[in-house]
Amino acid sequence: MKTLREVLAAADRERRAIGHFNFSELTAFNAIIAAAQALHVPVMVGVSEGERDFIGLPRAVALVRNLRENQGLPIFLNADHTHSIEKAEQAARAGFDEIIFDSSNKPLPENIGETRRAVEAIKAIDPSILVEGEVGYIGTSSEILERAPDGLTLTTPQEAHDFVTETRVDILAPAVGNMHGMLTSMVRGEMAKHLDTQRIAAIKQAAGIPMTLHGGSGTDDADFRAAIKAGITIVHVNTELRIAWRRGLEASLKARPDEVAPYKILPAAETEIRRVVESRLLLFCNP
Ligand SMILES: [Zn+2]
Repeated sequence: MKTLREVLAAADRERRAIGHFNFSELTAFNAIIAAAQALHVPVMVGVSEGERDFIGLPRAVALVRNLRENQGLPIFLNADHTHSIEKAEQAARAGFDEIIFDSSNKPLPENIGETRRAVEAIKAIDPSILVEGEVGYIGTSSEILERAPDGLTLTTPQEAHDFVTETRVDILAPAVGNMHGMLTSMVRGEMAKHLDTQRIAAIKQAAGIPMTLHGGSGTDDADFRAAIKAGITIVHVNTELRIAWRRGLEASLKARPDEVAPYKILPAAETEIRRVVESRLLLFCNP
């Protein structure tokens, strides 16, 4: 069984990307796994601080370990956007494969200092855990937004180089036109996010490590392809799955007004989520 480091190195070499999808309950989890299994591709599942509080840290680890160790599936667990060393250490002790330490709302020197301390703390618990750091601000909320958050920034190649050299992170998350959440106009399909792919290529050159694109929901397909060719190794999609979950659930409840068995109501939501995950994985693994 390949490690996450090996899976990312192969994707990086071949200029493909690994899909990363968030979950906080079994409907989304099962949909993500079914999609990855159907396409025979490795996949990352992630839990933010809010999502991991809801599902429970040890339970998230047990779900992923069970599939990987008992069924041999290449599935990896990420502690998405972890904002304190304490929470990073909890995730490291629980057995996560990757931890994103996010101090990106701080000025660069503080971000570098805190991220370096997080890398040291995590590696002291388990040196095989991959640590991702983030430079630049792309908003925080994976929800439907009326307007773009204030203060969005773009990462420069110099910042990326300094950050990677001084923190020794394994993976870099840059700000390259991406944004967490989706605007209502994107949900309606009237517009899409566009990425600065020249910047991605320049940052890749400067950073020299695998890179993650956060906030992938609502991104133009051609931009996704160009970004992966330019050096993006992991793509995060969350809001699109949340929208699919809600739509599937609402339609199912409406179609079965008297049904109370969750296992009869929820498959419709799972089908909607799986459709989104499969289409994204197809694009990422063959850009
Ligand atoms: Zn993110």
